[in-house]
Amino acid sequence: MPPRSDLGTALRVKPGTRVRLSRRDHGESFGWNKEDHDAELAKQLARLADLQDRLWAEAKRSVLVVLQGIDAAGKDGTINKVMEAFNPQGCPVTSFKVPSSEELAHDYLWRVHQKTPRKGEIGIFNRSHYEDVLVVRVHDLVPRAVWSKRYAQINDFEQILADNGTTIVKFFLAIDRDEQRERFQARYDDPTKRWKFSMGDLEERKRWDDYQAAFDDALTKTSTSWAPWYVIPANRKWFRNLAVATILADTIAGLKPAYPPVADDVPADLVIE
Ligand code: AMP
Ligand code: MG
Repeated sequence: MPPRSDLGTALRVKPGTRVRLSRRDHGESFGWNKEDHDAELAKQLARLADLQDRLWAEAKRSVLVVLQGIDAAGKDGTINKVMEAFNPQGCPVTSFKVPSSEELAHDYLWRVHQKTPRKGEIGIFNRSHYEDVLVVRVHDLVPRAVWSKRYAQINDFEQILADNGTTIVKFFLAIDRDEQRERFQARYDDPTKRWKFSMGDLEERKRWDDYQAAFDDALTKTSTSWAPWYVIPANRKWFRNLAVATILADTIAGLKPAYPPVADDVPADLVIE
């Protein structure tokens, strides 16, 4: 069990290593338990609030958070719980859905690049350009010869962003097949959540193994020093939130965002009448 403070090192996909999701324990919680994690999560959320305030004030760099995971992995829940630390003004969330005809008339990165964060912002992608090597691959929406080139293209695209002041952090929320079943059932059973459930979700669930293979490849080929993947054990929602909050806070802290200097013409001893 790694020390509690080292979740980032434990969960980061080291560039060049082969990821096999089936060999991981998605119920792992690294020594934390549900009872004692509350205070730690509150601490991490407070850190995030402070760091975002500085990043926004500084307005020189940006952070891009990419969230991926199979249906019901908890992308929405993570945004709800972890990003509550942020001032919404500096934290745009973009959910990437089935592309529109206008989007399909362009290259697959066109719609993505338009939504990258401005300087000072923490942009959240709920799904992302990775769908173009995931659902697109699983459903043969473009030929293999086309999607197979995209891993390298995505790495290059992310390097352009990184070289121009965007820190990228990518979270893959990993759940078990049985956990997905339970969450779909709960969604269906709850009248306030049934709207989220679609019969299409069950069709996708039948392709579980194809998705796992596509995830394994994406995580293996696109975890880079400039845009690392973190595979988050996400069967337990509270651990998922703690891990994402901690790794995100550590990443932004590494940037040492600082409040800008006071304007030259503002005196040190001003008393406003
Ligand atoms: P949800 O996240 O439940 O709102 O669903 C969004 C849907 O859009 C998912 O089924 C995704 O697979 C789908 N989607 C997102 N991006 C793409 C894409 N580039 N091509 C095809 N489907 C996509
Ligand atoms: Mg859905």
